[in-house]
Amino acid sequence: MSEARIWTETDADPQLLAGAKIAVLGYGSQGSAHARLLHEGGLDVRVGLRAGSSSARLVERAGIPLMSVNDAAREADLIAVLLPDTVQARVYREEIEPHMGSGDTLLFAHGFNVHYGEIRAPEGVDVIMVAPKSPGAMLYREASGGNGVPALIAVDQDASGTAHGVALAYAHAIGSTRAGVLETTFAEETETDLFGEQAVLCGGLTALIQNGFETLVEAGYQPELAYFECLHEMKLIVDLAYKAGLSGMRREISDTAEWGDYVSGPRVVGAHSREAMHEILAEIRSGEFAKRWIEESQGDASEFRCLRAEGRAHQVERVGKRLRSRMSWLQEGGREA
Ligand code: NAD
Ligand code: MG
Repeated sequence: MSEARIWTETDADPQLLAGAKIAVLGYGSQGSAHARLLHEGGLDVRVGLRAGSSSARLVERAGIPLMSVNDAAREADLIAVLLPDTVQARVYREEIEPHMGSGDTLLFAHGFNVHYGEIRAPEGVDVIMVAPKSPGAMLYREASGGNGVPALIAVDQDASGTAHGVALAYAHAIGSTRAGVLETTFAEETETDLFGEQAVLCGGLTALIQNGFETLVEAGYQPELAYFECLHEMKLIVDLAYKAGLSGMRREISDTAEWGDYVSGPRVVGAHSREAMHEILAEIRSGEFAKRWIEESQGDASEFRCLRAEGRAHQVERVGKRLRSRMSWLQEGGREA
């Protein structure tokens, strides 16, 4: 397979955003980072929040014009929808759609609502994605320090003929061309993001930790030791792999650990898990997962709340709370590990 093209600083044309009126809707993780970086970069930005939002004073402190979602959407030509994915479709229908006209651009940081048809922009509107591959705090810290985090860009609708250039210029304005910008589609970003969080990052990881913990506890070992082995040390290993890949991680562990890795790892996560991964991916691609989650999150969310309560009540959580309370570097105000 050929290597993916990586866009860098010299590929972007900042002029494409020069006169644009930009609205950033939401001032959470992504919104606060995007709005501050665009504002500090001299662009014409306003933030749209709902009435009574607790983020209002933070926007004011940053010196960025603040208004309602409705007013921000009316004023702007480029609207960055950085609201929680579960509220985007409703807010779009009620407060954004009435103001969408030819020549406007809708920008997302994740493709879910557009890809699954929950948000459909009118014909004359450009629909683009700029998805930084980091939480907002890190995005802001890196970009304002003269670096950047990688980002994905995509174009779903290109009415103007400049949608791609605008997405790249926006990625540039939030520092991401310094780290590299990759081209994707709304389908690819959404499906790989959902798969990653379900099979590997969130679902896969928590299930692995809980099953390992339960296996040791059921066999009569102390839950405290099981916690250290199956959860606490996860960070050390993940940090090594993050920095230097799997081989780099394996260079840092003992030969015994490395040998066990090769002979036992595939027995735990093997053919059965692989089959489940294929099923999960198929449900993501067919829209079955999205349909179920939309019904759940737009309904009474009773199953979601029940599963959340179950997770919080797990023994690994009780044991961990007690052990972590003695780890000074994890306490509020303490130094980050
Ligand atoms: P967030 O929950 O941190 O912030 C959402 C903001 O929207 C908050 O300011 C909240 O007050 C506001 N809000 C909530 N409901 C609202 C409503 N009804 N009307 C107006 N404002 C409302 O969300 P986030 O994590 O920044 O996610 C925003 C988008 O960025 C999502 O599409 C997400 O998938 C994407 N994204 C997030 C990350 C991440 O690491 N957090 C990374 C890449 C992409
Ligand atoms: Mg994600």
